[in-house]
Amino acid sequence: MQGLMMNRPMSIIDILKYAAEAHPDAGIVSRRTEGDIHRTSYRETYGRVGQLAHALKALGVGEGDRVATLAWNGYRHFELYYAISGIGAVCHTINPRLAAEQMLYVINHAADTLIFVDTTFLPILAALGEHLPKDLRIVVMTDHDHMPETPLDVLCYESLLEGQASQYDWPEFDENTAAGLCYTSGTTGHPKGTLYTHRSNVLHAFMIALVMGPKLPQGTKVLPVVPLFHVNAWGLPYAGPMMGVTLVMPGPGLDGPSLFELMDSEEVFSAWGVPTVWMGLLAEIAAQGRPPKGFGDVVIGGSAAPRSMIEAFEEMGVHVNHAWGMTEMSPIGAHGAVPPAVQALPLEDRLDYKQKQGRRVFGVEFKIVDEAGTRLPHDGASAGELFVRGNAIASGYFDNPEASAAAFDAEGWFGTGDVATIDENGYLAIQDRVKDLIKSGGEWISSIDLENAAMSHPGVAICAAIGVAHPKWDERPVLVVVAAGEERPSLAELHAHMAPHFARWQLPDDVIWRDSLPMTATGKVSKRQLRAGLGDYRHPELR
Ligand code: ADP
Repeated sequence: MQGLMMNRPMSIIDILKYAAEAHPDAGIVSRRTEGDIHRTSYRETYGRVGQLAHALKALGVGEGDRVATLAWNGYRHFELYYAISGIGAVCHTINPRLAAEQMLYVINHAADTLIFVDTTFLPILAALGEHLPKDLRIVVMTDHDHMPETPLDVLCYESLLEGQASQYDWPEFDENTAAGLCYTSGTTGHPKGTLYTHRSNVLHAFMIALVMGPKLPQGTKVLPVVPLFHVNAWGLPYAGPMMGVTLVMPGPGLDGPSLFELMDSEEVFSAWGVPTVWMGLLAEIAAQGRPPKGFGDVVIGGSAAPRSMIEAFEEMGVHVNHAWGMTEMSPIGAHGAVPPAVQALPLEDRLDYKQKQGRRVFGVEFKIVDEAGTRLPHDGASAGELFVRGNAIASGYFDNPEASAAAFDAEGWFGTGDVATIDENGYLAIQDRVKDLIKSGGEWISSIDLENAAMSHPGVAICAAIGVAHPKWDERPVLVVVAAGEERPSLAELHAHMAPHFARWQLPDDVIWRDSLPMTATGKVSKRQLRAGLGDYRHPELR
């Protein structure tokens, strides 16, 4: 028997329309590439999004067309998210940190016809020059007075909006219509495209609002350092207006001092980003001797938040939410917005919870399996590959049958490539990526655990644990370390520091010192590049 309820399709533009009506006082604060601070409301933004939709139509953008962006976090990028999907086209966000070859690959693979670019990134397109598709038109995201000199044939964003009506008659379409396209950073092989739908993005926004809503009353200021150019900025451009929070967009200022200054002057309560960004902010907090005014909450994800980082924030009264997810999951799968009883625990106990990646969000299911595909118990000890399914998880990759076929198990669950445990209370603990686990004598060592323990030593700024070949043990762990100061702790000192958390055989056999570690386009330590960069390094016993 069918129910008797309206079947209204989920539509992204409805989020902004709602915010314009229900949260007219909230909006967007942006540090612009022009250098100043810009303020707008969701009501004003809704009108400009209407103007932009008219402009897109005038440029000939039709339903299903891919429109690319190459931009920082700012109000114009936000407007593009809504206008492009609002007319039934697909917003293809491009990561400006991609190598030239990969950028050309995604532009061609997506068959983008139009690209919106911040002035900062225009030189990237100019360098690609004649390799760009001939019919690709370029719009520079600034006003007439700030248009830069360029050899490219370009249009001006604000000039396109000028004179357009703010009222737009938004079309209605199937909620499974494609709305966004984001490629994985392609650490191996070509980048693979996740094609989000209106339904998946709206549902994902509900999922985020459900975990973060209780912490973020209307009008609260939230700062996404996580970029709009990758994984939908963790869904904040949708969940933010839905909750009625004001988004503070940092533009190009992602270093510690710039973030501190913006957070302090805007009194940002909650800031979201990857661990490497917080290292910069924590250094600035240490230099200033105080946290930014109003700062009380931080979401850390994208790679494992080191325990020492969680501790530093918690000690200054900033509550940490550790989150886990991936591009293919829209992206959030687990969230560590812990209940008040956990937040009230003594620090060490609280850290035990927060070091884990939180619990599944509504709409996402987990299973962990062994190598034979047999399900493992959620007992906090059994580690296996994590598979997921849910309402906002990819069912395949855009125009890539091969990768699509390889991504799912026989039951249709998506293989994350992560190894995890799940405890009786539902807390997920990511042990490693399958490919980064260190195999020693038939046993596994978690590189994340080693890194966490080493990074809690005051002499270690950042480090990566990797396995190197060993004739007897197959692999042995070594640490690649960037020192925090002048003093470099010895291997024996590090062992003494790490020993309480490990069996003797799990401790690293060597320390390699570096001035910095190679990063991926999404701000994570690139272990692939790191291994390649070690050249003819040999395990100490093999020298
Ligand atoms: P890419 O960098 O390839 O584009 P994503 O941004 O989708 O990929 O990253 C997804 C992966 O990042 C996960 O599969 C996991 O390995 C890692 N990751 C994300 N969040 C966390 C976390 N909180 N702890 C540990 N690993 C994480």
